[in-house]
Amino acid sequence: PDMPLPPYFAGLNERQREAVLALDGPVLVLAGAGTGKTRVLTTRLVHLLMTGKARPGEILAVTFTNKAAAEMKHRISDMIARPVEGWWLGTFHALAARILRAHAELVGLTPNFTILDTDDQLRLIKQLMQAENIDSQKWPARVILGVIERWKDRGLPPDKVSRAEQAELGGGRLLDLYRDYQQRLATLNACDFGDLLLHNITIFTAHPDILSRYQQRFRYMLVDEYQDSNVAQYLWLRLLAQTHRNLCVVGDDDQSIYGWRGAEVENILKFEKDFPGAKVIRLEQNYRSTPHILGAASGLIAHNADRHGKTLWTDKDEGEKVVVAAAWDGTEEARQIGEEIESLQRRQVQLGDIAILVRAGFQTREFEERFITLGIPYRVIGGPRFYERQEIRDALAYLRIINQPDDALAFERIVNVPRRGIGDSTMRQLNDLARRLEVSLPEAARRIVETDELKPAARRSLGTLMQDFARWRSMADTLPQGELAQQVLDESGYTAMWRNDKSIEAPGRLENLKELVHAMEEFDSLGGFLEHVALVMENSGGEPGEMVTIMTLHGAKGLEFDIVFLPGWEEGLFPHQRSLDENGMKGLEEERRLAYVGITRARRRATISYAANRRIHNQWQSALPSRFLAELPKEHLDRRDTNLFQQSRMNQDADWQSGWGGGWSGGVSDPSGGWRGRNAGGQAGYGPGMRRRERVIDIEPDAVMLVKRGASHQAGDRVFHQKFGYGRVVSADGDKLEIDFDKAGLKKVMAGFVVRADR
Ligand code: ATP
Ligand code: MG
Repeated sequence: PDMPLPPYFAGLNERQREAVLALDGPVLVLAGAGTGKTRVLTTRLVHLLMTGKARPGEILAVTFTNKAAAEMKHRISDMIARPVEGWWLGTFHALAARILRAHAELVGLTPNFTILDTDDQLRLIKQLMQAENIDSQKWPARVILGVIERWKDRGLPPDKVSRAEQAELGGGRLLDLYRDYQQRLATLNACDFGDLLLHNITIFTAHPDILSRYQQRFRYMLVDEYQDSNVAQYLWLRLLAQTHRNLCVVGDDDQSIYGWRGAEVENILKFEKDFPGAKVIRLEQNYRSTPHILGAASGLIAHNADRHGKTLWTDKDEGEKVVVAAAWDGTEEARQIGEEIESLQRRQVQLGDIAILVRAGFQTREFEERFITLGIPYRVIGGPRFYERQEIRDALAYLRIINQPDDALAFERIVNVPRRGIGDSTMRQLNDLARRLEVSLPEAARRIVETDELKPAARRSLGTLMQDFARWRSMADTLPQGELAQQVLDESGYTAMWRNDKSIEAPGRLENLKELVHAMEEFDSLGGFLEHVALVMENSGGEPGEMVTIMTLHGAKGLEFDIVFLPGWEEGLFPHQRSLDENGMKGLEEERRLAYVGITRARRRATISYAANRRIHNQWQSALPSRFLAELPKEHLDRRDTNLFQQSRMNQDADWQSGWGGGWSGGVSDPSGGWRGRNAGGQAGYGPGMRRRERVIDIEPDAVMLVKRGASHQAGDRVFHQKFGYGRVVSADGDKLEIDFDKAGLKKVMAGFVVRADR
C-alpha cells in the first residue's frame, strides 16, 4: 500500500482499490446500485494488463449485453491508450459460441453450425409434434419450447432431467420431444442459444484435456451482473475457474430481475460456499445518484422481505426530491413528459442524458407519437419502435389492404398469417396470374377464387379471406376506426393466433395490439390513421447524444442517465399483473427490484408518474396508483400528484361533456412550465367510459404548449394536426382555430396542436 498506485486508481475509494488489487483468488463484490462495481471490473482488467499478470487473450470478461461489452472495451482501450487484440470480452452466449466453434465436432456439429432464432426453433418443435402426434392444443409448441429452454438454463441435457420432473410434465413425452429436438438440431448442424453453454459444458466435462487448456488460457475471469446468471452459466464459470480460482464476480441481489428467464439469484449468495476463502467486498458509497434519489430507492427496496440488506450512502449534494406526478391518462402523461423535456432542452440539457424507462413495451407508443409531434428525436432501445413491431406491422397490413385494395406488399405479408393453407405454390400461381393480367396481387387473388385454378382447399380459404376483406371495407366508413380494427383482428384469426401462443412475448404482443386499437380511436378515417403512421415511421434517427432514450426497465440494467422518467406506476402495470398472478409474492418482489433498478438509473433527477385512467384490455379503467408509490419514503418525494388524483376521482361520476372549455379552467395562464399549473385543471373533456372519437371538438388544456407555440396561425395557413392530418385554417379566434382538414373536414382545434405545414 505504500507503493504509489498507477494513475487509473485515482479517485477509487479504499474498498474499490481493495477489490481491484485482490487479483488472485476468488472475489465477490456484492454491492448496491451505482457503487462502482462495473468500474471496479474495468479497472481490474486494466490492472491485470498493466501489471503484466495477464495478456488480453488471457482474461475472460463476461458482460450482460453486447453493448456493455463494447462500452467496456472502449473504456479500457482509452485507459491503456492502445487498441488491444484478442479480447475475450462479451456475453455468455458470445463467448460460449466462440469456444464451441473450435470444438464443434465433439458434439456432432461442424464449425460453421447455425444458431437458430425463436421462429426456427418453433417450426422445428411443431414438426416434431406432428410426427409424434402430440396434441398441440394441450401442449402448444411455445410451452414445450419454454420447458426445454428452462431445462437448458439449468444445465440439464435430456439424460439429466429427473424422473419426477418428467412424470409431472406430460408423462415423459416432453422429454422424448426434447431428445428428438436435440437430434434434429444435430442433423441440421444447428444449435439454439441454450445449447451454446450446454455444449460447452458437455465438452468440458467429457474432455478434461480441453477444459484444462481453457483453464490455463483464461487465467483471470471477471463477471458483471452476476445476480442474473443462470445455473448453466454458473456451471460453465465454475468449470473454467476450478483450478486457478481467479474469478471475480460483481453483482447486487437487489437487482436480480431475470428470475422469469431462469436466473438464480442464489448463485451470488452461495458464492462463498462454492469458492471457500473467497474475498467478499461490499461497497457502500454510491457515486451515481443524489441523496434523495438514493433514499427513495433504498426505502422502496427495504419492503422486500427476501433480501440481505445493505447500506448505501453518497456524499453528493442533496439534489432534487423525486417527483411524483399524475396525469389524466396515458396521452396526457406523455404530453407532460414531452413538455418537461422541451423545457430541459431550453436549459441546455442534452437529450442523450434523458431516458424514459417503461415497464411494458406497449407504453412506448404514446411517447413516440408525442415526441414526433414535438420534433424531439428519440430512440427505442432493445426493441423496434412501436409501429415497426411484428404484430403491429401485421395488423397494419390488414388495414392497409382495406384502405387500398391493391396493396400487394401488405397482402403478401398477411395472406397466410395466421396460417390458412395458402402456401408457396398458391402464391406462385397468384404471382403468375397477376403478371399475365397485369393486375395487382390482391386483384389476382380476387379473380382466381372465381375460377377453379386453385386446389379446393386453397380456393376456399383464399375466397373466404377476400370476402372478409370486401366486408371489412364496406364497414370502414361507418364503423369507428377502433372497432373496425378490433373486428378485423378478431375475425381474421389474428388475435387468436397470439392468444393461443404461449411464449413469453405473446402477452406483450396482445397488449401492443390493444394499444393499436386504442390509437386508432383517435382518428376519424382509416386513411387518416394510416397516413399518420406513415409520418411517424418516417422520423429517422440521429446521433445517440441528441436523442432521448426510451427503453424497458429490464433493458436499462447497469446504465445511467442524468434524468430519468418512470411512467406508468399503476397497479396492474407496475407491479405487472402477470408477475403477481404467476409468481405471487416472489413476483411482487421481483417487480419491486425492477422499480429499484429504475430509480437508481438516475443521476440527478427522477420523475415517477401514473395516469388516473388507462386503457387496459380495451376499456378505460380508472387506475390505482402503484403500491410502490406508498412505499417510497415521503421525505424524499415532491408529490405533485395529489391535486389531479383527487379531482379525477371526484369527476369520475360526473357527466362528461365535450365542448369549449369543458372541464378546464386553471392552468392556461401558467407559463412556468411546471406541472403544478396544469394539474389544477388537467382533465381533458372526456371521461373514462367515453370513446375518444365521440369528442366533437378536441380541446387540450395544455397551457405550456399554448404559451410556447403561441397562436400565430392565420386564415389561409396550411397546417398539420396530429389527429386530423393536413388542412387549411379557415378562421382563428385567439388560440382556437377552425380548420378545414383534407380528410376530416371542418374541425375546431387548439392552436397549440397544429404545426405549420408547407404542403
Ligand atoms: P449498477 O449496480 O447500476 O450496475 P455499478 O455498481 O456497476 O452500478 P458503476 O456503473 O460502476 O456502478 O458506477 C456508477 C457511477 O459512479 C459511474 O458513473 C462511475 O463512473 C462512477 N464511479 C464509480 N466509482 C467512482 C469513484 N470512486 N469516484 C467517482 N465516481 C465513481
Ligand atoms: Mg454495473
